[in-house]
Amino acid sequence: AKDRGRAHYRYFQEQMNLSFPNEALMESHLRRAIEKEELTIHYQPQVNLITGEINSFEALLRWNNRKFGYVSPMQFIPLAEESGMIMRIGDWVLDEVCKQLEYWQKKGYRPVRIAVNISPKQFKQENFAMKIREKINKYGITPHSLEVEITESAMTDMQDTFAMLKELKDIGVVISIDDFGTGYSSLSYLKKYPIDIIKIDQSFIKDMELDEKNAAIATTIIQLAHSLGMEVIAEGVEKDQQVEILKSANCQKAQGYFFSRPVPIDDINQSYMTAIQP
Ligand code: C2E
Ligand code: CA
Ligand code: CA
Ligand code: CA
Repeated sequence: AKDRGRAHYRYFQEQMNLSFPNEALMESHLRRAIEKEELTIHYQPQVNLITGEINSFEALLRWNNRKFGYVSPMQFIPLAEESGMIMRIGDWVLDEVCKQLEYWQKKGYRPVRIAVNISPKQFKQENFAMKIREKINKYGITPHSLEVEITESAMTDMQDTFAMLKELKDIGVVISIDDFGTGYSSLSYLKKYPIDIIKIDQSFIKDMELDEKNAAIATTIIQLAHSLGMEVIAEGVEKDQQVEILKSANCQKAQGYFFSRPVPIDDINQSYMTAIQP
């Protein structure tokens, strides 16, 4: 895992002309990012392709360092995982999201859901479900207003994974598989685990209007999800033609730059939350 983190770092250093001179310095700054209030959460709407309604958002972490500027989560999340900081950061994200849900619920807004990315390291903690339960109780939120996005790579041990997902399901949170189709696990887990939503990885959406193979894979995932009684969300939708293909394949929901980039909470409140107050 350590080598992978390094590789990631180098890649982005070249790609984005990163101003952090080394990983150690980035790590020491990241360690203080929470108390320095450098972390924020952006929210990306998930759009119902049939009705146009928006009832859910994905929470995406942002880090703006005072000295070195904006750092992509693709850079700092691997570093946070490698160093163990992801536990504290992940906890902070969950806390912020639950706080936001509490605010909306207390104000009497219509019910909406927020999906939170869960690192494999977090998910593999024995007391993860208990921590989720504590957050839900602490903020008094409706359990199904919270969604946990878990990747296939977190689902290694069959027994442990099943037990954890079952516990989360019993609490009432919504469970989705992120980046579906990019892991190496067998499909048999889909019938064993209590999964609500499959998120089609954006690599299959990209160029689907030109690449028949991508369109075929996406369409097959949609059918698979439906025949298993699960919901499906297409990620990374950027083009009108992609929306049309997804609609004709009966995909219920999509998110991507075509509809909206991830935006700060104030934008969400202004665009999606105030108008629908009864
Ligand atoms: P992800 O969970 O697969 O999130 C989707 C990524 O695609 C996000 O990148 C989002 O901004 C981007 N995206 C959304 N729509 C489009 C589109 O139409 N086109 C393209 N090209 N990209 C789109 P972001 O925000 O940079 O996050 C990258 C990754 O970092 C996430 O991938 C996730 O794995 C991780 N991450 C972000 N926030 C958190 C967090 O709070 N906790 C954990 N553990 N990981 C996080
Ligand atoms: Ca995600
Ligand atoms: Ca994803
Ligand atoms: Ca991803």
